[in-house]
Amino acid sequence: MLKGTSGVYRSDDMIVVERHRQQFPSLCLSCGGVCAVTEVAPPIPGTRSKLRPPVCPACNSRRGRVAKIIAMAGVAMIIAAPAIYFMLGILPAVVMLLTGVTDLGIAWWLRGHILRFRVLHEDEQYVWIAGAHPDFLAALPSWHGMKLGELQGRGN
Ligand SMILES: [Zn+2]
Repeated sequence: MLKGTSGVYRSDDMIVVERHRQQFPSLCLSCGGVCAVTEVAPPIPGTRSKLRPPVCPACNSRRGRVAKIIAMAGVAMIIAAPAIYFMLGILPAVVMLLTGVTDLGIAWWLRGHILRFRVLHEDEQYVWIAGAHPDFLAALPSWHGMKLGELQGRGN
């Protein structure tokens, strides 16, 4: 466990974050590499403080780059579709247009999902995150509260 970590726990392969007093370890949630933790602003009373898990600059820029390349390919296909229509007819043009639109959709989705972690569950107090790197998980103290399954079973 790293010094200074508080309000962040490990429950099996998930992370449990205390919404109002989390201090993440200085590790990237996505690749487990050492990474500076951004200072958490004090929560504004009455609002949900935004969770900012640490992600290293390399992971962040990789996400942006991949999404950008895919988006550019999509735009190029949409722009080229009319020319394809004149050269090859309607069917290849429609296929190209659909592929281009699908590409843009994938790029949009990637913006949020290429970092493998995702929020599974959140309430007023805790946020549950899945998909963190094993090194990140290893740095956390274990969670002694209710498991996510029990929590969700209770809520339904
Ligand atoms: Zn990283």
